[in-house]
Amino acid sequence: MHIGCHVSVRQGYAAASRITKRLGGTCYQYFPKNPRSLTVKSFSRQDALECRHFCEENGIISIAHTPYPTNLCTEGKEEHAAMVASVRNDLEIADACGSIGVVVHFGQYKGNHQDPLYGYQLMIRSLNEILEDWTGKALILLENNAGQGNKMGLTLEELVQVRSLLNKPELVGFCLDTCHAFASGLWTGENWGDVQKKGEKLGYFTHLKAVHLNDSRYPTGSYRDRHADIGWGEIGAERLGELIRSTVIREVPLFLETPGERPGGHASEIAFVKQLFGRPQ
Ligand SMILES: [Zn+2]
Repeated sequence: MHIGCHVSVRQGYAAASRITKRLGGTCYQYFPKNPRSLTVKSFSRQDALECRHFCEENGIISIAHTPYPTNLCTEGKEEHAAMVASVRNDLEIADACGSIGVVVHFGQYKGNHQDPLYGYQLMIRSLNEILEDWTGKALILLENNAGQGNKMGLTLEELVQVRSLLNKPELVGFCLDTCHAFASGLWTGENWGDVQKKGEKLGYFTHLKAVHLNDSRYPTGSYRDRHADIGWGEIGAERLGELIRSTVIREVPLFLETPGERPGGHASEIAFVKQLFGRPQ
């Protein structure tokens, strides 16, 4: 199994991979640049290469996460161009660091166009543009939403359908956020068997490359996106344990995006998840 957490790159990309090893993790997520802005970053190829080598030598897997303002459904010409350039920049950094891919939240259309499919069309157009001449290995990893503010991207059907309509679907995989899945009501905590069956039928799990393993501060169906430490939220350790041990998740790397509030912080949470994973079914 691979388990790790979100790590800061304040000291550089290679440093983030070394932090992961110190925490006892074998995977991690990072923001390739300032998470609050879509400004394109020029980065150190040398640092990225060092990161890639350290990960290869230590069997560590990484993923990048796009900045918060990234929305695949932006309409305005300039905003759209800035978003596309930013995600391309994220892909380049991720690729240089040897990361599997870049996590992007499913788009949220905030305009007032009448056609309910309009937001999805914008999103597909953006992804086609981002990937048009992308030749690297890093993938786009579409993440399911919690439903806060807007109800796009809550179901497996939407994720699979958008991917299938792209010009280059082979460059897109999925990232399942357990807090979002729970908050949106996709996973109620009691129906993992059904979610698994549906996902298998749709071909969702074939392209699942990462799990954001988070507990949820709010109950299922609340549409509220507030992560909690594993076992410290409304989902609970038992149900999260059932999910990570299931056949469709077992092999997928797990990334904590939790506050890390328990004594011992993320190192002890990583150890806790390893133990949870090892428990008999
Ligand atoms: Zn997430």
